[in-house]
Amino acid sequence: MAQSSSMVRLYVDAELSAGDDVDLGPDSSHYLTNVLRLALGAPVRLFNGRDGEWVSRIESIAKRAITLHLIEQCRPQAPEPDIWLAFSPIKKSRTDFAVEKATELGITRLMPVITQFTSTRRVNSGRLAATAKEAAEQCHRLSVPNVDETRSFSELLAEWPRDRQMYALDETGSGRAARDAFQGPPGPVGFVTGPEGGFSESELDLLRALDFVTLVSLGPRILRAETAVVAALSAYQAIVGDWH
Ligand code: SAH
Repeated sequence: MAQSSSMVRLYVDAELSAGDDVDLGPDSSHYLTNVLRLALGAPVRLFNGRDGEWVSRIESIAKRAITLHLIEQCRPQAPEPDIWLAFSPIKKSRTDFAVEKATELGITRLMPVITQFTSTRRVNSGRLAATAKEAAEQCHRLSVPNVDETRSFSELLAEWPRDRQMYALDETGSGRAARDAFQGPPGPVGFVTGPEGGFSESELDLLRALDFVTLVSLGPRILRAETAVVAALSAYQAIVGDWH
């Protein structure tokens, strides 16, 4: 991972406020000292999803334990569009791609969901969370998406908050065009994508029956699920989200 030392950004759990010290765990400490080869005094940017972004400096380096001293806040925490993504897992590398891109495109919560035609049922939520964290650090977000444990499609529909608009991506052509479906003002929304085999007819019927669901079409070509994720989030961010 080529990164200039002044640009190192890490997500941490700790509170961030002026003068505090933050102890890093063994993984981050290893990354900073053995991979990036940072020395005492080197600057590191920190964010925790609540307190904005902070500049810190390496205060002490012990074996697998670095302490950072916080200098000053360089960016305040800013509100972000509230966008969930429920997706049917696909092949491992394609799922990783989707998680990385969805994080770059601003999702706040990732919900793996098993549908009728889902073929990849083993999901390592821990790995997805690590992918999301790394993507958030890299793209200069001030938050990291939460990653849920896997749930079933029926659980997803039952648990979905009724005041959150659900955009279900429908490749069969029965959905609304994205530019008509995505209308402001932006509120809490979530996207749902199907597996490589798409949603079943009965799943589409269930979705059509719910008044918080809008089926959305992304044009006449059948996209791979990970492409659909990127296309839908890009269209949403451009039309009503934070691409202004
Ligand atoms: N059933 C299809 C492929 C499904 S594509 C087949 O085998 O022919 C995988 C998922 O990506 C779909 O379930 C849908 O959520 C999304 N998707 C792909 N192309 C899309 C499009 N043109 N519009 C909306 N969603 C799409």
